[in-house]
Amino acid sequence: MKKILPILIALVVALAAATDIFLYDLNNKNLGKIFAQQVANNNIAAASSIKTITPVPPVALAIAEPIANALSRVTKKPFGIYVMPGFSPVNPERFTGYHTGVDFETTPTEQKADIPVYAICPGKILIKEWASGYGGVVNVSCTLSGQAVTVTYGHLRLASILKKVGETLAQGEEIGVLGTGFSKETDGERRHLHLGIHKGKNAVINGYVATEVQLAQWINVLDYLKPVK
Ligand SMILES: [Zn+2]
Repeated sequence: MKKILPILIALVVALAAATDIFLYDLNNKNLGKIFAQQVANNNIAAASSIKTITPVPPVALAIAEPIANALSRVTKKPFGIYVMPGFSPVNPERFTGYHTGVDFETTPTEQKADIPVYAICPGKILIKEWASGYGGVVNVSCTLSGQAVTVTYGHLRLASILKKVGETLAQGEEIGVLGTGFSKETDGERRHLHLGIHKGKNAVINGYVATEVQLAQWINVLDYLKPVK
């Protein structure tokens, strides 16, 4: 028993010391500060992790649609098709050559109501005029995939285009409406939108070219009318 007593005393002292330390920490005023700092640190971490979250739109197109339901309207003349009188999806055909643009058709019920045409990308109006083969036509500069291009919108009602040459159009902004079919507004063409994209900064509005080498200077708008990956 005499040998066990010092051991018991030592145990009690050790326990008391341990308890003291525990109680000391619980009563330590700094503990509250440390806890607050940890909460703040967690908040900073949470905030910085929120910053890295990028919202992803469900379907994003590289460009704006030039006309409502654009893809469903490409039924006659796609990009690059070679046509000539008697050899064309359109009858009668008055043109000869490789089609530099894409034609977006209208339905029989769309022949009277206004059909808006929108800028596929932002840029400055370079040409706004009445031209043979088009009726009303607009040419707008813009940049696609880092490349300077000019975009031709053909067969528009010239009087509906409110902006002037030199003014800018935002992406998706309404340029005007389609001209009335088989009238001077479309230079006698059926009601549809011709959209051509030419490489470079110069305004070029040709609807057809004679050679494939010339056609290589043009871009198919359908390459951009699809979801961004
Ligand atoms: Zn066309």
